[in-house]
Amino acid sequence: KDAVEISLKDIDQLAKTSFPLCMRHMLEKARNLKIERKPSSEAWGQNAGAGLKLEDALAFWRAEFSQKVGSERFDKEYAYSIRHNYGKEGKRTDYTPYSCQKIISATPGVGDHHGCPYRHFGEDNLRAALNKMGISGHPLEDIMDKVKNRHYQLACTMTFEAEHGVSCDTGINHPNQYFSESQKVLKA
Ligand code: SF4
Repeated sequence: KDAVEISLKDIDQLAKTSFPLCMRHMLEKARNLKIERKPSSEAWGQNAGAGLKLEDALAFWRAEFSQKVGSERFDKEYAYSIRHNYGKEGKRTDYTPYSCQKIISATPGVGDHHGCPYRHFGEDNLRAALNKMGISGHPLEDIMDKVKNRHYQLACTMTFEAEHGVSCDTGINHPNQYFSESQKVLKA
């Protein structure tokens, strides 16, 4: 009875309000893939990182939204159209999303991990990405300070706090947790 209808349009909106930086980045990557034609195997090789990230994004969406729309419907309507739109085919049965720790320790662009922007972006890119989330001035400098000291999850937690205007005492340890904490705050 309290089922929520979620469309891809809603996912865009939710991404804007509640996705951590890693997920926003994946969504952007997914969009970039969408503009390209179905990639040749060579191009696909170059985009392998992004393609795998897309799979991880899919895993995230599935975990979050299949409870709401039902996993069968998710697979049929959402997963299919995401894969189809981005020219990505193939199956993946393991939909378990990674923890921050695992993402942070991953080697970017290799294997089936996506990166943590706090760990894997260059400084300019990270600043630009945080600016895009509306973070600047002191909060931004504090976050960059944590990054310099390799406290990536703390930097992400501070981003959450700056974005939502509340403190996050548990800290961020999983992209899904960022999302659910955000939804809690926004729905409170
Ligand atoms: Fe994503 Fe975790 Fe990095 Fe935050 S700390 S951007 S949730 S991987």
